[in-house]
Amino acid sequence: MTLTPRRLRVALALLLISPLHAQDRAGDSSGNRAADRTVQLLQRLSDAPGPPGAEEAVRAIMVPEMKPFVTQPITYDGMGSVIAQQGNTGPRIMIDAHMDELGGMVRRITPGGFLTMQMLGGWLDQALVDQRWIVLGSKGPVHAVTGIRDIHVVPADERTRVFSRDQLYLDIGAKDPAEAASMGVEPGDPVVPDSPFVILNGSRNYLGKAWDDRIGCAVLVEAMRRTARLPHPNTLVYVATVQEEIGLRGARAATQIVKPEIGIAIEGGITGDTAATHPEETQAKLGAGPGIFLYDSSTIPNRKMVELVKQTAAANGIPLQLDLVQGYGDDSAEMQTQNGGTPTVNLVVPVRYTHSHNGIVNRQDFDHMVDLLVDLLTHMDQAQVNELRDFAPRP
Ligand SMILES: [Zn+2]
Repeated sequence: MTLTPRRLRVALALLLISPLHAQDRAGDSSGNRAADRTVQLLQRLSDAPGPPGAEEAVRAIMVPEMKPFVTQPITYDGMGSVIAQQGNTGPRIMIDAHMDELGGMVRRITPGGFLTMQMLGGWLDQALVDQRWIVLGSKGPVHAVTGIRDIHVVPADERTRVFSRDQLYLDIGAKDPAEAASMGVEPGDPVVPDSPFVILNGSRNYLGKAWDDRIGCAVLVEAMRRTARLPHPNTLVYVATVQEEIGLRGARAATQIVKPEIGIAIEGGITGDTAATHPEETQAKLGAGPGIFLYDSSTIPNRKMVELVKQTAAANGIPLQLDLVQGYGDDSAEMQTQNGGTPTVNLVVPVRYTHSHNGIVNRQDFDHMVDLLVDLLTHMDQAQVNELRDFAPRP
């Protein structure tokens, strides 16, 4: 969305009346200002609205960030994924992260001016209630809240129950459909969580929405910056995909164009390090290093690639977490099965509380992920790719 002059004045006025909030977002409360380039990139990516099918704002960040590091013009597939290539000789390695995030779409406007919402992506019903949202309307952002049933009227036996998505509505302050329309809202408008980026209390942990998979988008940008300067014999195709959260749809289309010989997905991982999780659900911890998926419900990675990633991490002193998650799909599944099949792996930066308004990532995990990926990409060559793609039994 564009920032009109009127909205710019409103934004500036908001900044002036809330200096504490502005300071929190630029640095942190300990005075240790960490607003470096990476923090700024992560903040812009996390704050950008981009539910499935409406990734324009994320694409508008990714394309200028990628552009200085490509050797051919950036191209797009027919769904809107961004294809950014470095080099044109040697094996084609596709590095994938998805631009879309969990969100919704305005379904109907009720006679009372409330909006019903089609959810997009895997939401828990309990994550939806009493949250702030932004409707991407035709006249700009429209603030909304999912109402909650007031405790003063809820019977005692219903107070511990989850408020289901069927009972959910968005309140935009409109009294009827005409007023909603005058705000620029109509059925089909995209809806995203309203959750500004914050550095958590001087720590290296960053709170925000959409880390799945804006953290992967940021890894792509920082890896590209480095592989552009380093010698290597490969064609690196960095791809920022669309519509992952509704069934890996963008990766399927992009992969058919890129035709990679090796595929690497960069994703948000799932942590199991809080009081509320069971050890069998996931074993990853925030701040304990990037992870590699050994299993998820969409794919089993290539075993030689898993070994290569393990060796690369060990050789560089990078802690690597191994994980298996049952209810999880990722773009590597599409890269793996298109074009006659491709060795792939899914590498992750651990995220606490994915698929919600408020997730947490750790900066050291991010930096280690970039180090690991850059080392993998710059040390691969045709002989190794041939070996990874060789399934002939050894005599
Ligand atoms: Zn994801």
